[in-house]
Amino acid sequence: MATSVDESWDAVVVGGGPAGAATAALLAARRWSVLVIDKARFPRDKACAEFASPGVEIVLRRLGAWEAVQALQPRRLRGMQLIGPSGERFAGTYPRGRAIALPRPQLDQAVLDVARKRGATVWENTRVHDLLREGQRVSGVVAAAGRGAVRHVGARLVVGADGLHSTVARRTDAIRPGWWPHRTGLVTHCEGIDGLDTLASYGEMHVRPGAYVGLAPLPGGCVNVAMVLPTRAVRQRGQDVEGLFWHELAQFPALAGRLARVRRTKSLLGTGPLRRHVPVTAGPGYLLVGDAAGFLDPFTGEGIYRALRGAELAAAAADAALRTPAEADAALAEYCRARQSAFRPKEALCLLVQAFIAYPPLLEYALRRLRRRPRLAQRLFGALGDTHSPWATLAALLRP
Ligand SMILES: Cc1cc2nc3c(=O)[nH]c(=O)nc-3n(C[C@H](O)[C@H](O)[C@H](O)COP(=O)(O)OP(=O)(O)OC[C@H]3O[C@@H](n4cnc5c(N)ncnc54)[C@H](O)[C@@H]3O)c2cc1C
Repeated sequence: MATSVDESWDAVVVGGGPAGAATAALLAARRWSVLVIDKARFPRDKACAEFASPGVEIVLRRLGAWEAVQALQPRRLRGMQLIGPSGERFAGTYPRGRAIALPRPQLDQAVLDVARKRGATVWENTRVHDLLREGQRVSGVVAAAGRGAVRHVGARLVVGADGLHSTVARRTDAIRPGWWPHRTGLVTHCEGIDGLDTLASYGEMHVRPGAYVGLAPLPGGCVNVAMVLPTRAVRQRGQDVEGLFWHELAQFPALAGRLARVRRTKSLLGTGPLRRHVPVTAGPGYLLVGDAAGFLDPFTGEGIYRALRGAELAAAAADAALRTPAEADAALAEYCRARQSAFRPKEALCLLVQAFIAYPPLLEYALRRLRRRPRLAQRLFGALGDTHSPWATLAALLRP
């Protein structure tokens, strides 16, 4: 049965992070009425290593958001140093473009501002609790600002861009159990890590059995320190997450001697479990985009790219569904296929990389091999940087 609504929009986008803001910007530019609802007040922080692959710049340019991001003077990084547990290392350089290192509050605010400028309305500090339905079709959301009144907001299309713990994905029963190991991410900004002159234009990724930590130099001299470790290690430590963070950081052999002067410059953010398997990313009246549509382990750093590129695919499908309601279901089914062909190859590459980091001797073998085969390394970093096709890289990596 249809529920009466307080107001109606063509599209309601739940979540104003990069996926939601970019989808909203593209739909508003096509003259649809768009409402973005986010539970946070922007600029809001987000647990992230804040290392956006070179492919992100390309999509931001297409979105018309690049100038605003560039004005924030992000650090531009040429690549990433991979460092194994026994000190074996390899500095991989992106063959095209540079990565962007910028605090997420600034990056996300810039993309959301583009959505506003294009005509999207944004409700901040407002949480979506549930979905409205007409029969099987999603027809809107139930939202409330702080402790304010509950509002029933009608939508011809609901876009679930509400991140790793998506309410829209849960309410549409889209999430399936995955076999991915349970991992938790702990992120902060630090000063005083010795030897950071070597970080002039490269990030560092340190790997040891069961855990890894990324260092990304940010504008202004701070470094983003993002550690991923088994969720069970965090649970065992109980309340003392801060103690766990410093203890675990010192266990990375190539970092241990560089921490005498280290100081945290903002609070520690944590999130987990770092996995989300969403095989079907759209259905009658809704689609999912960004982390809400599936999450890969952040080692290979493609979340922001997937959010923005996914938004382009989502906006094209949403536009088609809104223009021709009789063919909306076909347009949304096509969206699921388009996502698969856009993201499956990189997912396969990420799985392969995961196998290497799970077995450190294999990783160290791979690092030595990359040093000996510069063309293979270039291909790998092109694919990891989201500027080159992962298929050719996969074939080259698997060749004996
Ligand atoms: C530890 C860690 C490190 C990472 N490092 C990197 C990296 O270096 N590079 C990279 O590219 N990616 C990285 N990622 C992934 C990246 O952060 C995400 O892929 C990216 O933020 C996805 O964008 P999004 O818009 O889908 O979701 P988000 O950025 O999470 O935005 C979702 C928004 O939805 C809002 N929201 C949630 N629930 C509701 C609700 N019920 N009602 C209203 N609003 C709601 C939230 O407030 C939030 O603003 C990392 C992730 C983690 C966890």
